[in-house]
Amino acid sequence: MALLVKKFGGSSVATPEKIYHLVDRVLAEKKPDDRIVIVVSAMGDTTDDLVTLAGRVSRHMPKREMDMLLATGEQVSIALLAAAFQERGQKAVSLTGPQAGVRTNANHTKAGILEVKPDRILKELDDGNVVVVAGFQGLADTGDITTLGRGGSDTTAVAVAAGLKADLCEIYTDVDGVYTADPRVVPGARKLKEITFGDMLELARLGAGVMQPRAVEYGEHTGVDIHVRSTFHNVEGTIIRRNYTLEAEKEYVVRGVTSDVNVAKIAVRGVKDLPGVAFRIFDALAKVNIDVDMIVQSASAVPEKNDITFTCQKADMADAVGVLETLKPDMGFSRVDMEANVAKVSVVGAGMLGNPGIAAGMFGALAAKNINLIIISTSEISISCLIPRDQVEIAVNAVHDHFFPEQA
Ligand code: ADP
Ligand code: ASP
Ligand code: MG
Repeated sequence: MALLVKKFGGSSVATPEKIYHLVDRVLAEKKPDDRIVIVVSAMGDTTDDLVTLAGRVSRHMPKREMDMLLATGEQVSIALLAAAFQERGQKAVSLTGPQAGVRTNANHTKAGILEVKPDRILKELDDGNVVVVAGFQGLADTGDITTLGRGGSDTTAVAVAAGLKADLCEIYTDVDGVYTADPRVVPGARKLKEITFGDMLELARLGAGVMQPRAVEYGEHTGVDIHVRSTFHNVEGTIIRRNYTLEAEKEYVVRGVTSDVNVAKIAVRGVKDLPGVAFRIFDALAKVNIDVDMIVQSASAVPEKNDITFTCQKADMADAVGVLETLKPDMGFSRVDMEANVAKVSVVGAGMLGNPGIAAGMFGALAAKNINLIIISTSEISISCLIPRDQVEIAVNAVHDHFFPEQA
């Protein structure tokens, strides 16, 4: 008897036909004793449409109301999925995130899961149900519904699997697994048989949208192995686990290439060259929960002044500039510039430690395509370059061809 958590993304439930496709597949693969929990996203582009709708009503949609709105998407798909199981003669019940015991902090629109209290799900399983849980949403101590940030159903699935001590967490999606680059952008990308939590987390943080980074972190902390695989093809996908087990997968330097167009560049010009200045800027941003990345300080054209440049998510750009403008009178810097037409291209892999040719290889591949590097940043297992947005596809393909020449 196995307890299985299976997550289906928006494209897997985009139409009634697709809902029945997945219901029939789950039932065909289900052994008589299996206990099955399905975590599901909103249908197709529903969440994008709700975000657009919110923007037409309010330019500064209050975050609590945004969560109230976005959580409706998943409530539609759970009801339809549970009904489809029942149509096929399988007992099933739908549960919202709050009903399923998904407890979060109150950080609206990007809440973190604190724990999953599994009692209700277990009771429904004991009653013979397939339990269909709404991804992407939970309940804060305030009593309010929250959402987990875009792609958050992945995190619901891993957290539910951990809370239930499930045997396996499967993430079903519209590609066959995790690839060396987004297979929609790089046709020659290779599917990975396995990847460690550490490498996957870095890929996800740097733009590999196939998994939400927090889901990978949650898997690592709780030891839940994750199988990323296709809803539409019945083939082995990619296992995300603590350590590599396959010799072939260990022998690599670069694990993958990613891009992220969801970034913006902000430059604070002419800040005084004094201790505490960077602290004031980044403390103010942290207090409103804005994540920053790629921080660079350089000498300004003005003597004894610096420019501090960083990137953040595009969605946070206006809020970040607003916060910085409030500091301007007191800190006396000259101005804040913002730029949304940028993208980040990265190479990732623990194997690049102590391998000095990687950075040069990446820069050379980009130079050969005449791509200008606006900011460069590195971590122990990645190198990232900020480039003009309109060159991102050429850049990812050039860097992938360089590091994975057999697929070029
Ligand atoms: P879902 O709706 O199932 O959650 P997502 O759109 O969130 O699906 O994630 C799947 C998408 O992730 C794929 O369609 C693919 O374009 C993209 N993707 C980006 N990088 C990668 C990668 N390295 N490997 C596989 N898919 C990737
Ligand atoms: N529906 C949410 C989104 O589009 C959550 C998810 O799909 O994982 O971001
Ligand atoms: Mg997703």
